[in-house]
Amino acid sequence: KKELLKVTDLKQHFPIKGGLLGRTVNHVKAVDGVNFTVYEGETVSIVGESGCGKSTTGRAILRLEEPTSGQVEFDGINLLTLSKNEMRKKRKDLQIIFQDPYASINPRQTVRQVLEEAMEIQNIAPKSERTERILELMETVGLGSHQIDRFPHEFSGGQRQRIGIARALSVDPKLIICDEAVSALDVSIQAQVINLLKRLQKEFKLTYLFISHDLGVVRHISDRIIVMYLGKIVEIADKKSLFTNPKHPYTRALLSAIPVPDPDNKSERIILEGDVPSPINPPTGCRFHTRCPFATDKCKQEEPVLRTTDEMSDEHQAACHYIEEFTS
Ligand code: SF4
Ligand code: MG
Repeated sequence: KKELLKVTDLKQHFPIKGGLLGRTVNHVKAVDGVNFTVYEGETVSIVGESGCGKSTTGRAILRLEEPTSGQVEFDGINLLTLSKNEMRKKRKDLQIIFQDPYASINPRQTVRQVLEEAMEIQNIAPKSERTERILELMETVGLGSHQIDRFPHEFSGGQRQRIGIARALSVDPKLIICDEAVSALDVSIQAQVINLLKRLQKEFKLTYLFISHDLGVVRHISDRIIVMYLGKIVEIADKKSLFTNPKHPYTRALLSAIPVPDPDNKSERIILEGDVPSPINPPTGCRFHTRCPFATDKCKQEEPVLRTTDEMSDEHQAACHYIEEFTS
């Protein structure tokens, strides 16, 4: 297995300005020391409630927002050391698809123009060959090449997401970050787009980092799953272990929230109460202790680290003091 992306101690702390002088008075610790690796050809998902730092992690990897600290190695190069210009060129290899393609596609451009521009920026294919490439891409993503001169508003939500996918593909990337890429779509359309992404992964040897709040959605596409809570990873596992042997009480709460109960998951149901605390002053010790039904005094004081046990699979780690006691 080849490491394609390796994220080390990534932090994204947004300053909060205050007072008459507008000094930095505090920080939103949106991502607070995140470590993970993505291997070539796999799909790793990041899940968690809104505000857990999953999208911020994706954006920090691409330097859409400069991270506060850490390392992001892609294909052996630390992206955070690249100049702005070098990074712009690197984006050929790392593309992103957003939840709302409408927000990232110029409504005044036709599909042809959208894709042409993407290729122009990265210097893909001679100009004379671009139209042919666009027609091919449209067929590949199931849009139908006859629609090449249509505008985004002439397409449905699912079709617009296919335009976003075609645009990402047009520069021949290695990694695509899908940030809630199917979240706004109807369930049946979601399934179609996920199937498309799976097919494209095989065809173009793509690697995906799939960001979603919905464990039910990521189960259809992931090889491995990362669960984040308040800026930290609380559990990371291969898909099967995560669904059949979830360890962290937060993961188990997320699983409880999936509408159709999973017959393989025999662990007790945990219903999440209360809101996610503020990432400005996160709870001491285990950040989940304010909502965890198993919290003890130790949890309030000591921060649990990601670790595994003999009973867990090799790929499986969770950050909770009591994982030994949570057996499936
Ligand atoms: Fe709950 Fe304590 Fe485990 Fe945190 S460390 S998840 S508070 S039991
Ligand atoms: Mg988000």
